[in-house]
Amino acid sequence: MASNSTSNGSAGPARLGSAYPITDHSFDVLVVGAGGAGLRATVGCSQAGLRTACISKVFPTRSHTVAAQGGVAASLANMGPDNWKWHMYDTVKGSDWLGDQDSIEYLCRNAPAAVYELEHWGVPFSRTEDGRIYQRPFGGMTTDFGKGPPAQRTCAAADRTGHAMLHTLYGQALRYNTEFFIEYFAIDLIMEDGRCRGVVCLKLDDGTIHRFRAQLVILATGGYGRAYFSATSAHTCTGDGNAMVLRAGLPLQDMEFVQFHPTGIYGAGCLITEGARGEGGYLTNASGERFMERYAPSVKDLAPRDMVSRAMTMEIREGRGVGKNKDHIFLHLDHLDPKILHERLPGISESAKIFAGVDLTKAPIPVLPTVHYNMGGIPTNYHGEVVIKKDGDPDVIVPGLMALGEAACVSVHGANRLGSNSLIDLVVFGRAAGMRAAELVTAGAKQPELPPDSADRALSRLDGFRYAKGSLPTAELRLRMQKVMQNNCAVYRTGETLQEGSKLIHDVWEAKDQIGVTDRSLIWNSDLVETLEFDNLIIQAVVTMDGAVNRTESRGAHAREDYTQRDDVNWMKHTLASIDPAAHSVTIDYRPVHSYTMTNEMQYIEPKARVY
Ligand SMILES: Cc1cc2nc3c(=O)[nH]c(=O)nc-3n(C[C@H](O)[C@H](O)[C@H](O)COP(=O)(O)OP(=O)(O)OC[C@H]3O[C@@H](n4cnc5c(N)ncnc54)[C@H](O)[C@@H]3O)c2cc1C
Repeated sequence: MASNSTSNGSAGPARLGSAYPITDHSFDVLVVGAGGAGLRATVGCSQAGLRTACISKVFPTRSHTVAAQGGVAASLANMGPDNWKWHMYDTVKGSDWLGDQDSIEYLCRNAPAAVYELEHWGVPFSRTEDGRIYQRPFGGMTTDFGKGPPAQRTCAAADRTGHAMLHTLYGQALRYNTEFFIEYFAIDLIMEDGRCRGVVCLKLDDGTIHRFRAQLVILATGGYGRAYFSATSAHTCTGDGNAMVLRAGLPLQDMEFVQFHPTGIYGAGCLITEGARGEGGYLTNASGERFMERYAPSVKDLAPRDMVSRAMTMEIREGRGVGKNKDHIFLHLDHLDPKILHERLPGISESAKIFAGVDLTKAPIPVLPTVHYNMGGIPTNYHGEVVIKKDGDPDVIVPGLMALGEAACVSVHGANRLGSNSLIDLVVFGRAAGMRAAELVTAGAKQPELPPDSADRALSRLDGFRYAKGSLPTAELRLRMQKVMQNNCAVYRTGETLQEGSKLIHDVWEAKDQIGVTDRSLIWNSDLVETLEFDNLIIQAVVTMDGAVNRTESRGAHAREDYTQRDDVNWMKHTLASIDPAAHSVTIDYRPVHSYTMTNEMQYIEPKARVY
């Protein structure tokens, strides 16, 4: 059990301390986030005998992982030849050589074991005739180092793979003595002399403040898709962990790389999985042409997402979009056997009906590229440990802090993530973090007292917004931010639109000081929580935009019309962006991309042109 002791708040500034009594908790490990990454790490830490707490702002099985559809990549070779080296090659190429190859090797090598573990824990995977895990092809996945046909590598539980995984992982976590703190909102990290010591949280249902002290804090808080107007991500995807890291004075990595998924439902933004094209679906323009044949002659509709999104945008721009306004594209599944659609894609059949009014067995689905995934995030090594650049050394570990999942930038996805490589990232690195935690953390070790002012920063932030009396409602500022990101930091970018975007997004950041919150209560105060989330989003939006202005090349999802080529001489490096909140300014630095693998079994894959 947690050692609950209610302090009189002497830790905080006098006014804040008495206004917000603090309940203290002490654990060996604190995991923030109960999506796929957080839950897998929680299981590992608990298994290792560490007293582990997992906190989540939503009920664990409502984390965004639940919405993942298409599947989880691993070279099981159930449907044809495959091996982890081909998976590694595809991931390096998919990343447009911005991924760190030691981490990619770790991911692809350990992927099959991680999927079998999920199978043994109870994930109800779809099956082949002979009872093995069913696998479908996904974009950018090939055989024989890009020379062979598409690989069938994506393990699927129909089109509800994330749902199946998340529920199974939550069930596993409940087997151990993990203590869950559900509907607790983490406000900020507690840092002391460069080490992370814990987290300060608001309990959403009663407004109490909780201070967690831990030997190790693991951030698994997901992506920040909601910085954009149209995103497939849940409204809870506000990148809170990323923002906590920025506010702690640490940088985020490669934030300019934002993935647009080619097939968001036109208007609604809900996802139609890439698995739809894996099962034989294809895209057409106004003249009914299967235009992907022109852009990616060998893999066609199964090109990686950045390429398909660009091709669709180009078709629309050149007047070949479908619909009254010629502003979207059709995705066809109507030529496929309705039985297969029912069996393998039941979820999207339902989504197409509800959100586009389309019976996909009879008509095409109207789709448009929609923000889907953040390649950038908190820089880590492949053990999950957060790294910073210090005194010229680019891989200095931040003690007491790890990051996982979409919040992290390991970096395995580099400039462009391949479909189904996120779910595998969650479980492979979630498992790795648990193993590292077992090495780093001593169960039950006595922890030093927290500094007396440890909750001040978080409480001042909370209190500042709670009593904010400005004239601008949060919803208005959030909409401004989302529109700027959508318009100025899109699939295609130019120096001009990005410069304008930078000015506009900095204006929103500065306007934050005029925010007004009307509800002053602390119990289920959604106005306040959405304001904290907006405050998290805006600093990520700013570093995304400024990183994009700064990177004068095209690589993966970052497609500049004024710098159309990848520039390995000047830009094969990770962006590190940090902020000065008082000055509303962004500072950019770099880390080298790792030019080595993890073992000698696979040599470094030399960069070459990325054609499919
Ligand atoms: C619609 C959709 C479909 C997808 N399909 C696939 C797919 O088929 N295959 C694939 O590989 N990838 C897919 N992806 C991507 C993948 O699902 C996500 O990248 C991944 O699930 C993210 O998992 P996570 O554990 O990092 O975070 P999440 O699942 O987003 O969980 C974040 C957790 O952090 C908690 N949290 C956040 N902020 C706070 C805070 N301030 N305080 C306390 N708790 C907090 C939340 O409560 C939640 O528990 C899809 C994504 C979307 C949006």
